[in-house]
Amino acid sequence: MSAKTQDTDAHARLSCSAAYRWTVCSGAPRLEAQFPDETSVFAAEGTRAHTLLETACLLGLETTAEAITLVEGADAEMAEQLQPVLDWIKQEQASRPGAVLFFERKLNPGRALGRDDLWGTGDLVILDEPRKEALVGDLKYGAGLAVEAVDNQQLRLYALGAIALATFPVERVITVILQPRAYHTDGPIRTETIARADLDAFAQTIKEAAAATDAEDAPLVAGEHCHFCRAAGGCSVLAEHAMSIAREAFRAVEQPLDPQRIARLLHEADVVRGWLKALEEYALRIAKDGTELPGFKLAKRRGHRKWINPETALIELAAAYSVTDDQIAPRTLISPAQAEKVIKAAVGHKADLSELVHTPELGPRLVPDKAKGEDVFAEIVDLFAGLEDAA
Ligand code: SF4
Repeated sequence: MSAKTQDTDAHARLSCSAAYRWTVCSGAPRLEAQFPDETSVFAAEGTRAHTLLETACLLGLETTAEAITLVEGADAEMAEQLQPVLDWIKQEQASRPGAVLFFERKLNPGRALGRDDLWGTGDLVILDEPRKEALVGDLKYGAGLAVEAVDNQQLRLYALGAIALATFPVERVITVILQPRAYHTDGPIRTETIARADLDAFAQTIKEAAAATDAEDAPLVAGEHCHFCRAAGGCSVLAEHAMSIAREAFRAVEQPLDPQRIARLLHEADVVRGWLKALEEYALRIAKDGTELPGFKLAKRRGHRKWINPETALIELAAAYSVTDDQIAPRTLISPAQAEKVIKAAVGHKADLSELVHTPELGPRLVPDKAKGEDVFAEIVDLFAGLEDAA
């Protein structure tokens, strides 16, 4: 299998990655166009991870660690996280003689839908003519929300783009989420195989959703999909939605909450939290641009004081105030995770710290049922089952 790469940075009005948003809120593309597209530290980290993986693949390296020095900002931890992804890609490469592999390939589902504003960039695209198959993979380097491969609109749009790219009739597309850092019960690499007929039906649905965004009065619809919307901080519909959730929560104070309502309010709390954060960021940005916000001002901020030169300070403090090194610069042990990194860099393999460390129990926390972490009550049920068996 051969490998190609193509650099595509342009942002589509209807991007594949935002399909989950514009298919629900058809007014979002219109409103988002009024807000700047700002990058975040998480996006920068994701870009480094993509580059590291792509570099290792294109150079045919056995490990992502071998590519660290070639990618600015990449480190051993990132390489370790991406190694299973590289292994999986190499396995796919080996099992598909005659296939062509692309990285960061512009995919144009809009072509089949008669639109020139709908495209995206597939992190991994394999066109396998002998098997009449295509494979599209999306690397998610985020550790927060685990993304599903099944019924994933972004991947299905990439699948349509891969079909448009192929020069042979594609009978099925395998869509893949490569997410090494977020916990999911199905593991870090998750797939769905979609028949061509199902993708053709999806194309019809998405064509209608895309057409709905063209209307000048396309409605704004708020919900969980608002999370990464560029317009979130300045969107009055989201503001009203978040306030109505908050009002309901306060109304509920008058009477005891039943478990159903508690669970619903916990889910909706994310929408309110996300909106407040977006509102604060938006307010700070327009205030910096000179907009006056009644009752607020831009105040100077100062950080904590820092030594100009720590070594000089150490010598001068000891000389001037007769304090010992232990008093002013006590030696502290690094954490087990940091020690593992140091030792791995020094001796080339992971240290066995099992006799030296313990993991304290911190008490339970409430998380959505698909999130990482053993179920406290499942453990107790197992314990009772064991006692019954013993009896
Ligand atoms: S914040 Fe939500 S409701 Fe407002 S434009 Fe964005 S997706 Fe639509």
